[in-house]
Amino acid sequence: MARLSDLTESTAVEGAISEFRRLGRHAFLSQYGFRESTDYFILDDGDMIDSKPVAAAALARQHPNAAQPGPKYFERGTSRTVRALEALGFTVVTRAQLHPPLPGAQYRSRTEVQAAFGGDNVAGPIRFPGEDVVNLFSDENGPYTDDPPSLSETFGYRGQGSSGPQRVDFGANPLIEDARESGSPVRFWHRPKGGVFTFECWVVVESRAWVMGIGKDKKQRVEINWRLRPVPGPNPAEWPEAARLAHSVTPLTREEVAGAAEVTPAPTYDDLVRRVEELQQTAEPHAVSRTAYQRQYAARRAVLIRSDGQCESKRCTGMPPEPNRRGQPILDVDHIVELSQGGEDHPLNMVALCPNCHAAKTRGKHAKRWEKELSRIAAAAHDQSRFAAIEGSGA
Ligand SMILES: [Zn+2]
Repeated sequence: MARLSDLTESTAVEGAISEFRRLGRHAFLSQYGFRESTDYFILDDGDMIDSKPVAAAALARQHPNAAQPGPKYFERGTSRTVRALEALGFTVVTRAQLHPPLPGAQYRSRTEVQAAFGGDNVAGPIRFPGEDVVNLFSDENGPYTDDPPSLSETFGYRGQGSSGPQRVDFGANPLIEDARESGSPVRFWHRPKGGVFTFECWVVVESRAWVMGIGKDKKQRVEINWRLRPVPGPNPAEWPEAARLAHSVTPLTREEVAGAAEVTPAPTYDDLVRRVEELQQTAEPHAVSRTAYQRQYAARRAVLIRSDGQCESKRCTGMPPEPNRRGQPILDVDHIVELSQGGEDHPLNMVALCPNCHAAKTRGKHAKRWEKELSRIAAAAHDQSRFAAIEGSGA
């Protein structure tokens, strides 16, 4: 039977390309029993021509008397096909190489993304054929509880694996871990409920943490939470220094987190405040970003517990009637005195605000007054929550 290694005449390939052009794509593909390619194409006069069917037709032209392998042989031999054609002087490209997706690109589904750029038809992160870039897909329809994305601040992205403890070496997680370790640019795609997949922005995988979550089997387990930081483009030379350095932080091991979680499965306000204060003291010089993230995470969680689902402002005119996508009250946790102004990552300097109060505090006419009032409110709520926690525990 003829094999790809027997394809040695470029005129046979040229003949097959002419036949492709004469018959048209559809008729040519059905002639040789192939489906439309999604990955590798011969670039001919600016046109993209399905590489495997052309290789099959060329092989038949060069060896008309030999038995011919069927489409399955070529489908399993992508790199062999590409090498054989390139050795004969043809340019083989992928759609992602020729027309990589730009920020703002939109597709209704993963199937449409695959039709546009090729690659495996999977739900998780992928690389498109011909590219080293990792593409992350965050879908509000689930199954993972990713943070809503941000174009300005780091946000969370959950690992792969629906039940049981997540593993860095499972599924597409190694792709993301590679991107974190190398500090490579990553495309972040997002689909809101009822919307379409949009290539929202370039990100760098800044860090990885283990967090407690609920698996598909409804059991508590450890999950991977990657922190994604939006960056201005795919070229690291144009990134702020912090983004270029961030990925070098060593993540916590799962044992460190799981061990802590077994002791305190559901931390109270008091636990979290203590955690914040502990982290404030134990900040290691080489783990600045990790410690800061953990501290802020603990502090935000504490403030949300303290707020009991209500805006903490005394001037509040009412919470939004709609819950957020996770079915929780829509609340922003805000630093009363901004970090950049010397404010601390501590519940005493933080409040839970509804979007209206948050806007009034940050963009309103009486920002100073809000700051003063909210500081008093936070201090009082803090004392009360700590007192309640101590009473509740019977101490
Ligand atoms: Zn409010």
